[in-house]
Amino acid sequence: MLYSQYVKECASRQPIYSDHSAFFLPLGIDSLVHYEPVTATRYFLSAFALCCITLVLVNIQENTNRQLRLKTVKDDLTGLFNRAILDHNTIEQINLARNERSDYLLLIDIDHFKKINDNFGHSTGDEILVILGDILNASMRDSDLAIRWGGEEFLVILQRCPSVHAQKIANQIRIEFEQNERILQLLQRPATLSIGTAATSQNLMFDKALSLADSRLYKAKSQGRNSVVFSD
Ligand code: GH3
Ligand code: MG
Ligand code: MG
Repeated sequence: MLYSQYVKECASRQPIYSDHSAFFLPLGIDSLVHYEPVTATRYFLSAFALCCITLVLVNIQENTNRQLRLKTVKDDLTGLFNRAILDHNTIEQINLARNERSDYLLLIDIDHFKKINDNFGHSTGDEILVILGDILNASMRDSDLAIRWGGEEFLVILQRCPSVHAQKIANQIRIEFEQNERILQLLQRPATLSIGTAATSQNLMFDKALSLADSRLYKAKSQGRNSVVFSD
């Protein structure tokens, strides 16, 4: 039967229960079909339950997507971010903001880490990376970013940070790592960090500041390690 015929036929029928339609909606078609109160209530409850289930499923899907996205930008070992967090958009934002504020970059590298692995084993090396991750996390404000840049190298981005404050934080990180009780226990001697720093500014885009921090890190290494270098 054609739909239009069906509608006409329904319209000509006498409603059995004229005051109970399926969805209680003011739609024209709703008045053509009439149900017993129990059936109407069942339909209504079924539709309501379906909406609730859909909402729950959408919520679960969104949470899963969020967690997957987070997983792609997190380093499994230290729980810090990995390089992927610095996508094109984030760098663009840092570059755009550099006219009003100065973001400080700390490029941090563990000294003679290969020797630590060779002498104490890879798992001890891993534990030391985790300890450094915890120290960095504890030194950060919500607006800062701590990133495992690769291997035993880390990048910290201190947002809107005056130079004096950045120097203080960099030295604090270096000293905390050198004096860490657990590392002293593991190695029977301190492990140390070399840190190169640079700030973004009106004249210095993120990439340029990063390469400046890298050359200062190299300087810290060549000057004997266990130090922070702030200038050329
Ligand atoms: P320098 O003071 O000049 O930085 O010397 P270094 O030995 O720290 O640097 P090098 O680049 O020679 O060695 C880095 C070592 O870091 C080599 C690599 O095996 C180790 N490494 C990289 N990633 C990991 C990791 O996830 N876990 C462990 N345990 N070691 C790692
Ligand atoms: Mg190193
Ligand atoms: Mg290195």
